[in-house]
Amino acid sequence: MNVKNCVKCGKIFNYIGGRPICPACVKNLEEEFKTVRTYVKRNPNASIAEVSEVNEVDIKQIKQWIREEKLSFSKDSGVGIDCEICGVTIKTGRFCDTCKKTVTNELNNAYDRPKKVEENPFANQKKETKMRFMNKDR
Ligand SMILES: [Zn+2]
Ligand SMILES: [Zn+2]
Repeated sequence: MNVKNCVKCGKIFNYIGGRPICPACVKNLEEEFKTVRTYVKRNPNASIAEVSEVNEVDIKQIKQWIREEKLSFSKDSGVGIDCEICGVTIKTGRFCDTCKKTVTNELNNAYDRPKKVEENPFANQKKETKMRFMNKDR
C-alpha cells in the first residue's frame, strides 16, 4: 500500500494516484471549485486575485483549474493565465492559439514531412519563337 502525506493538510493517507491529496481535502477542493465556479459565473469580470480573496482559495489553485480547462473567465475580463511558451495571456489550457498552431505543426512535421515537389525543368522554358520577316518592305 502506498502511503503519502497530503500536500494540503499534511495528513497521511492511502495514495492511489494523481495529486497527493487526501480524500477529505479532495472533497474540500470540489466544494471550493463549485464555489469559485459559481462566483466566476456571477462575476465574469472579477480578477483572479479578487476570486481568490473572496472565496479564500489559493490563486495557484484557481490558475490550475484554468490550466485544466475546468474554469474559464469571460473573454472581456482580461483575466487569464500565461501561455507556457510565449507568456501571452490566455483564457484556458496551456498555450495561446499561435503557439498551439506551432506545436501542432511541429508534431505534424515530425511525422509527415512534406515531400519536395520536383520542378518540371521544362515548365518554365519558354518556347522560342523566332519570327523571321523574310519580306521586308523596301
Ligand atoms: Zn488533506
Ligand atoms: Zn503562446
